[in-house]
Amino acid sequence: MSLFDLSGRFAIITGANTGIGQAIAIGLAEAGADIVGVGRSSMTDTRRQVASVGRRFLAITTDLSQTRKSAQVVEEALALGATPDILVNNAGIVRRADALDFSEEDWDAVLDTNLKSAFFLSQAFAKAAIAKGSSAKIINIASLLSFQGGIRVPSYTASKSGLAGLTKLLANEWADRGINVNAIAPGYVETNNTEALRADAERSADILKRIPAGRWARPGDMVGAAVFLAASASDYVHGTILPVDGGWLAR
Ligand code: NAP
Repeated sequence: MSLFDLSGRFAIITGANTGIGQAIAIGLAEAGADIVGVGRSSMTDTRRQVASVGRRFLAITTDLSQTRKSAQVVEEALALGATPDILVNNAGIVRRADALDFSEEDWDAVLDTNLKSAFFLSQAFAKAAIAKGSSAKIINIASLLSFQGGIRVPSYTASKSGLAGLTKLLANEWADRGINVNAIAPGYVETNNTEALRADAERSADILKRIPAGRWARPGDMVGAAVFLAASASDYVHGTILPVDGGWLAR
């Protein structure tokens, strides 16, 4: 079996309808995995693209800001016939305001979706994998703000720094249970998440100037790292946060 072959594996991916989550769903399907898309919006386009490479696509509709529902996602996925092989915690939101004005609502919304939900989904997934006695992979979608402070996004920075810490903690606890927990830290990617940044000509030009690769990332740029961290190629990789940032952090 090839180091990067995902045939016979199921990948559960949150936020699979668009952006990075959609690209990863299609990329893992191209590597052979069947896909469980989890989200609150229609995933018709992702379903079509996964089917076009000959893989199954199962959809679970849920709002991941309701953190109690996160654990149910795994139950539902198993009931639909999936196996707990790969989990990609991708769904995330950002709220922008000066720290002096930042509201509790914007704090809670981001922490619940980006961090709390990812933890309880990972916990339910790990329990299912351990019960089945099979190896599994968890990939968290972190951020450059897992390493840096950022500006005007206090809850986002807290959530992504927290997700990096959690990635390492879960790796420490679960590595010897056959579960690899790692993260991808995307650089600046052209998705809905960065629409406001890209609409601000000055901010957008400042960002571009600092990227050694000379361009923003496209969602598809995240696929190679995702396939690697989902496949047996990364069996001895635990607790790492892999930047895919066009060189931003090297600057
Ligand atoms: P995106 O296009 O806005 O995608 C975010 C995804 O999360 C969408 O599928 C969205 O669904 C889903 N989602 C948000 N809240 C949800 C909820 N309560 N319940 C269910 N699904 C929910 O942005 P993206 O850039 O691809 O973001 C994906 C991940 O990458 C996020 O964790 C983000 O923080 C991270 N990231 C992005 C960048 C970047 O530059 N774009 C950089 C670093 C990290 P809807 O379509 O229904 O809103």
